[in-house]
Amino acid sequence: MKIPVPESLWAIRPYSPGKPKEALAREYGISDAVKLASNENPLGPSPRAMAAVSAAAAGLHRYPDGAAHDLTRRLADHLGVPPERIVLGNGSDEIIVMLERAFLRPGDEVILARPSFLMYEISAHAAGATPVYVPLRDRDTDLDGMAGAVTPRTRMIFLCNPNNPTGTMIPAADFAQFLKRIPPEVLVVVDEAYIEFARDPNGLRSTGFSGGDHSVATLRTFSKAYGLAGLRVGYGVMPEPVAEVLQRIRPPFNVNLPAQAGAIAALDDAAFLERTVRTVHEGMDFLRAELENAGFQTFPSEANFFLVSVAGGADALFEALLREGVIVRSMTAYGYPDQIRISVGTPEENRRFLAAFRKVTGR
Ligand SMILES: *Cc1c(COP(=O)(O)O)cnc(C)c1O
Repeated sequence: MKIPVPESLWAIRPYSPGKPKEALAREYGISDAVKLASNENPLGPSPRAMAAVSAAAAGLHRYPDGAAHDLTRRLADHLGVPPERIVLGNGSDEIIVMLERAFLRPGDEVILARPSFLMYEISAHAAGATPVYVPLRDRDTDLDGMAGAVTPRTRMIFLCNPNNPTGTMIPAADFAQFLKRIPPEVLVVVDEAYIEFARDPNGLRSTGFSGGDHSVATLRTFSKAYGLAGLRVGYGVMPEPVAEVLQRIRPPFNVNLPAQAGAIAALDDAAFLERTVRTVHEGMDFLRAELENAGFQTFPSEANFFLVSVAGGADALFEALLREGVIVRSMTAYGYPDQIRISVGTPEENRRFLAAFRKVTGR
């Protein structure tokens, strides 16, 4: 290729998503696969959201409201923050991309936990910035280590709460202490994609920090507990000046018309959210107990997924499960070659997974 490519782009390992069911049908001829690999909602989308999306179809010849006025107001009410602090994205992935594009320049440093969500480093490289990794300490985000890694070049710190893939949560009290050590010109991004599932009352919920002295941005999404991953709606709650910057670079129609309608309806469907959370909690407790009884170590999680230790290698087990029509996630790419991540499914899917797991492990 003759076109010059910024050197930093070659450092990117492209994001590898969970294997879609359709791929299993193509590659293995399995038509009734169970996918427990992408932390999706096992109950499907909220029925009210589906109705709103269908109704929105009649207006598809029009551009959506670029400011997403109604959804923004509804979220502001829901969260108890001024609408000026909310920025909507085509999934929270897009908020990550916009933040890093807006605030990072070549040579700037971004502090990241490892392992954590891989999008943070992909966008950091895309902006030409340098990721600085702080390993988890005993599976927890090492806030001390991250505060200690701050240099004059640090522009941003990413925290994932609960963390994907370990499911661990940052204690609220520790976060308050941590902030005292962070210069106010460093943006602290707290990704709370799974916060609706968190059971720990002492865990951090960070949307209340966007009005404080520090620069804290909280990211949330409709993709997981609200069951709308295919619609692509996420948002950030951040200090108003930070939001103003993002509004300048945001593509004007980044959240499409059915997505705005579906997200509002999903927010109004509290019963569905509650049923989702209950299904996930019951399923996780069931699956972990069964796996522990079979002699496998599992790890507690505040999200809708958890890790299982599998001696002999995650990749081999992932492949063996695929042949049984069950898709999970090997954690090799995250640096845990002996662990797989299971997204909690419906009771029926959970039983299918367990049967396949027992068959291929012989336990
Ligand atoms: C799934 C996920 C997201 C992204 O969700 P969107 O679908 O882009 O809203 C963000 N952060 C983490 C940690 C996730 O696991």
